[in-house]
Amino acid sequence: MRPPTTVIRGGADGGAMISEPTWVLYVDMDAFYVSCELVDHPDLRGRPVIVGQAPSDRPTRAVVLSASYEARAFGVHSAQPVREAARRCPNALWIPPDFSKYERRSQDVMAWLERRFGRVRPQSIDEAMVRLSAPDARAVADVARSAQSDLAQSLGLPSSWGGAPSAVVAKIATDVAKPNGVLVVDAAEIAGFLGPMTVRAIPGIGPKTADRLARAGIHTIADLGARRHREIRGLLGAWGADLVDLARGTIPPLRDEPSSAPISRSVDRTFAVDERNLPALEGSVRELAGELHRSLEKEGLTFGAVGIALRWSDFQRVQRIRSLPGSTRSFDALETMAIRLVRELFEEERSGVGRAVRTLTVRVERLATRRGQQDRLDRYVPAEPE
Ligand SMILES: [Mg+2]
Repeated sequence: MRPPTTVIRGGADGGAMISEPTWVLYVDMDAFYVSCELVDHPDLRGRPVIVGQAPSDRPTRAVVLSASYEARAFGVHSAQPVREAARRCPNALWIPPDFSKYERRSQDVMAWLERRFGRVRPQSIDEAMVRLSAPDARAVADVARSAQSDLAQSLGLPSSWGGAPSAVVAKIATDVAKPNGVLVVDAAEIAGFLGPMTVRAIPGIGPKTADRLARAGIHTIADLGARRHREIRGLLGAWGADLVDLARGTIPPLRDEPSSAPISRSVDRTFAVDERNLPALEGSVRELAGELHRSLEKEGLTFGAVGIALRWSDFQRVQRIRSLPGSTRSFDALETMAIRLVRELFEEERSGVGRAVRTLTVRVERLATRRGQQDRLDRYVPAEPE
């Protein structure tokens, strides 16, 4: 039996954003796993297709991994228990997941984006961000539409695109544009665009944070923007001030991360015995997140993205990284996102191959020194009348 090990790593491997940033384009592949299968089975196009373990007579906790829009019309959606999906859409065609196929296609997509745009920042298996300079929203939308159509032509995969002068707004625009859409939000339109949405539309706000905000009477993003920075900071920590800015449409200008700060940091744990129990994994995620957070605090570093990587018992590796709406030092934000990601990866695996975990990695990216963050807070606090 190998001894359990825990290792902290930091380095410049996370990658800085490209220079001269003006707009962020966010791309999210539509019904990605299903779309990958349709490339190989074009005869199934236009039919209700579900990727997931078809329900059998045996009890199962399997969930839908991806559903075609034809299946979604019956109320099927990803993460739904397969039994429920089968009840809603009895004529669905079930395809067992083939994760290595989706990984390969994901690499094709990322390589295609890189050829087209230069630097790409993958956000998950089927999501990525690129930056570009363009005179106005209309020009950005033209770029997105032609990329969307060329990508569909070259790889046979449909996608949705969101553009904005801020990564988080671009991501939300992509969600609204789905499926097969393009939506670009100009700086002046951000507050009006986000205002009516529930706070859950903001990536990084999960049920726990939404509950905390709801108890303070905050339901929509407009509600959030109407509050003082100080109040939301009191509720959510430093991140809260960024959220108020976001809700008001006063997003910080895009810029490169300072090269002096390390760009990413991660903590690994290799288990003595491969782990196949989700609550135990979650316990380890909490411990590793705590260690990672302590090391960031010691150096006064904030982070803007959280990732989880799992190495399976057969040494294959999956990872998922998700951006937060702004820089934060909040342990809560780190822990909540890390737990969410480990659940996603684990559930997907359990519905398919079901391997055990050999090594768990908790990672943060977009590190910055807290000085910059503090400067911003100082700038805002006096502007808040008591
Ligand atoms: Mg997608």
